[in-house]
Amino acid sequence: MSLPNCPKCNSEYTYEDGVLLVCPECAYEWEPGQEVEEDGVVAIDANGNRLENGDTVTVIKDLKVKGAPKDIKQGTRVKNIRIVEGDHNIDCKIDGFGAMKLKSEFVKKI
Ligand SMILES: [Zn+2]
Repeated sequence: MSLPNCPKCNSEYTYEDGVLLVCPECAYEWEPGQEVEEDGVVAIDANGNRLENGDTVTVIKDLKVKGAPKDIKQGTRVKNIRIVEGDHNIDCKIDGFGAMKLKSEFVKKI
């Protein structure tokens, strides 16, 4: 099993420490799959939980969609979200609507 190189200095001597990966050369520690947080992109859901790329969420209220014939209904399940920068900080695809951006405050993590 091979570990990813350090995202900071690209060292290949990284090792695992619990859930974290650690770089012995620049002392950087990170959680695998969360390199995106480097940019400070954070999305918090309606319950105050931190959302991550790949999470599944449900919509907590009906949302109007500009140009769409119907609203996104409360309880709609949204799979495999991506956290992005901006006011609408979730990038996703919703059945019947296609590619869409949502605000994290209007969803909750499942
Ligand atoms: Zn490093």
